[in-house]
Amino acid sequence: MNLLTIPGLRYDEVMLPVYNPLPVTPARGEGSYLWDEAGREYIDFAAGIATNGLGHCHPMLIRTLIEQSRKLWHVGNIFATRSALVLAEKMIANTFAEKVFFANSGAEANEAALKLARYFGIANFHSQKTKIVAFEKGFHGRTFFTVSVGGQSQYSDGFGPKPGDIVHVPFNDLKAAKAVIDDNTCAVILEPVQGEGGLTPATPAFLEGLRACCDKVKALLIFDEVQCGMGRTGALYSYMHYNVVPDILTSAKALGCGFPVSAMLTTDRVAKVMKPGLHGTTHGGNPLACAVACTAFDLLNDAQLLAGVTEKRQIFIKRLESMQKQYNIFSRFVGKGLLLGAKLRTPYHSQATTIVKMAAQEGVIILKAGPDVLRFTPALNIADKTIHLGMDRLERAIDTFCQ
Ligand SMILES: *Cc1c(COP(=O)(O)O)cnc(C)c1O
Repeated sequence: MNLLTIPGLRYDEVMLPVYNPLPVTPARGEGSYLWDEAGREYIDFAAGIATNGLGHCHPMLIRTLIEQSRKLWHVGNIFATRSALVLAEKMIANTFAEKVFFANSGAEANEAALKLARYFGIANFHSQKTKIVAFEKGFHGRTFFTVSVGGQSQYSDGFGPKPGDIVHVPFNDLKAAKAVIDDNTCAVILEPVQGEGGLTPATPAFLEGLRACCDKVKALLIFDEVQCGMGRTGALYSYMHYNVVPDILTSAKALGCGFPVSAMLTTDRVAKVMKPGLHGTTHGGNPLACAVACTAFDLLNDAQLLAGVTEKRQIFIKRLESMQKQYNIFSRFVGKGLLLGAKLRTPYHSQATTIVKMAAQEGVIILKAGPDVLRFTPALNIADKTIHLGMDRLERAIDTFCQ
């Protein structure tokens, strides 16, 4: 039974029952604040699930959207348009990449990455080079291919025969990965910092080891930076923290800061296997989306903003540590940068949803990552005082929870 009530509107009666929304109906947002239909204020530590990197209704994004919306919305990929080409140049200038493919969602960017890796393996080596090595608790989207590559079978079970030749091993377990990466492997895919799966960063040795294994068997290394990219961990992309460069990288969520757009980045060596007609999309790289993403990219790719991510994480951690002293409900703090998690102690496992709901009642929006991790993914430009105000509210929620 859903608690959601918007006067005059129905939810359960009209919506496919795949979500379980909070009983809060946002009507307006500004920066890290949200107001619901009844005018109640919330501090937003979720930021559209790590997507609104610059908060709600950033004035520069509004300006770009309005300006572009008066010029050209959509023409399809039968044309090249300026904003897509400018965005591609920016992404190439600031990463390892030499070629870009635009899509609309994280899943589609990963779908393109996986198809590319399969095609590359078969065309350049042999017809058996199709194995995809992926990791437990990984998350790569909800198309049938990407959800099957994801490491939580409850999301892909029950839909009939799955795409084959996908192997899962434990994350950060180089030995287990080495045991399955062989001459038939076309790709190894992972999130440098797992998001949905509980906010686990890869260890440097793990990423370095995977790079070496991939080089040895001529497999492609794919980094899914849909959640951990675009400044979220304090670097433009998380691979930049490590000395490990992927062959393919996918970006979405904060790429459009709330406007749907995604990208798959790769090198010339890999890209040259593709030809016109082999892959495509209708909306991907649409002028409206790419114009917004260009502005978002410039604002997020800023040394001061990126340095602030690490400082703001410390504010969150300090406040969580003081809550820990008083209530003893956390076992440890996980994640990287503003992809931050507070893992609940064993007695509170499976209570994350309850705490998320109680937090909303106190006027602060947080997320969970699995049943036992509270997840904080605020806008990267959130003001320090807004963090404190939100944490005051969270503390009241946790006080109520512990009663
Ligand atoms: C959210 C997410 C996706 C899926 O993105 P969609 O835009 O929902 O398709 C893929 N990978 C990771 C790591 C994500 O966090």
